[in-house]
Amino acid sequence: MATRNVLVINCGSSSLKFALISQAHPQPLLAGQAERLNSPETVLRWWRGDRIRRQRELPGADHRIALQALLPLVEEAGGDRLYGIGHRVVHGGEQFTQSTLIDAQTLAAIRATVPLAPLHNPANLLGIETAMQLFPDLPQVAVFDTAFHQSMPEHAYRYAIPERFYRDHGVRRYGFHGTSHRYVGQRAAEFSGLAVGDSCWLTAHLGNGCSTCAIVDGQSRDTSMGLTPLEGLAMGTRSGDVDPNLHGHLARVLGWSLTEIEHLLNSESGLLGLSGLSNDMRSLEQARSQGHRPATLAIEVFCYRLAKSLAAMSCALPRLDGVVFTGGIGENSALVRARSVAHLPLLGLALDEAANARCVGGATGAINAPGHPRLLVIPTNEEKQIAQDTLALLDAQPH
Ligand code: AMP
Repeated sequence: MATRNVLVINCGSSSLKFALISQAHPQPLLAGQAERLNSPETVLRWWRGDRIRRQRELPGADHRIALQALLPLVEEAGGDRLYGIGHRVVHGGEQFTQSTLIDAQTLAAIRATVPLAPLHNPANLLGIETAMQLFPDLPQVAVFDTAFHQSMPEHAYRYAIPERFYRDHGVRRYGFHGTSHRYVGQRAAEFSGLAVGDSCWLTAHLGNGCSTCAIVDGQSRDTSMGLTPLEGLAMGTRSGDVDPNLHGHLARVLGWSLTEIEHLLNSESGLLGLSGLSNDMRSLEQARSQGHRPATLAIEVFCYRLAKSLAAMSCALPRLDGVVFTGGIGENSALVRARSVAHLPLLGLALDEAANARCVGGATGAINAPGHPRLLVIPTNEEKQIAQDTLALLDAQPH
């Protein structure tokens, strides 16, 4: 069979990330992003297998112009064997339990989910509609951040509020980062020589956004994010869990509006808020090494909250085959892994310090001390998972 390529698109409101994934190459043939769309500073940045970064100014470009500018790059990089386009879609509500070929019905269902993800789904829809216009002959697939978590049992996904809010307004826990948790859960089983369908994992996706997940036999049983990606862990700029009465408290004491409170909790909190310095773990580690107290506290809060979340997720597991760290922080920060594992002796966890120090910069490996439950570092690859889902759906079509 000829090698098949899939273009993976991840559209934000002002950005468009892309990767051309080939079955034959471990690295993308082409990857990059258009940034600051619809502004005078729009720029398209990309790199090919040689990793040399290139860029082109596209002042004022919108999603359509950016995708059009991408076409010749895709063709040059191997687009003649392009078989389909895979789109990351943030919210699939309760309609989508897995990746789906896009047709009019799918588009309508994604549109119906906009109230649950008013910032993200409209941008995802824009990307899909533009790609459908520019590539009318190619099949397009939607891969949802929420879909993997649709296997959570009701006692894990319902909030303890009256049922009508769930029934009439879809207020429940959905969870996000599903594509990443699913990918690293499968890779953890492969790496350990276990069957995906007979293995139990706790996964921690730690990037700018952070979440944990309990995976049993290849299915999500619980996850730390909820109705929105604000619930759960402390993150780069997001607070994660706070007392829900904080909203009322700030409104009463400071006279703040809902918009101001949401901005505080989503964009000014987390590592940035605690440290007063940065949302970037690298900068905080450096500041900590120079004795910066708020940066040290931010890392301690981050790690303690992560450990608490993993312990909570363990309630969903019949047994533990291992804990997986992934995402920019999970894959690179030996400090965060060590500080969080130190809080979990009751799960029997213990680190091998040398292995922990070695597993950085894209390495896959086990970092647990001998005789203790597996602790794995597994780089995530959401683009590859989206490309695999796209090809699997195409293969399942009648020819
Ligand atoms: P992501 O959203 O997955 O790209 O992850 C972004 C986060 O990973 C940021 O907080 C980065 O500071 C963090 N990160 C990336 N490289 C390192 C590193 N070498 N050490 C610590 N944190 C890192």
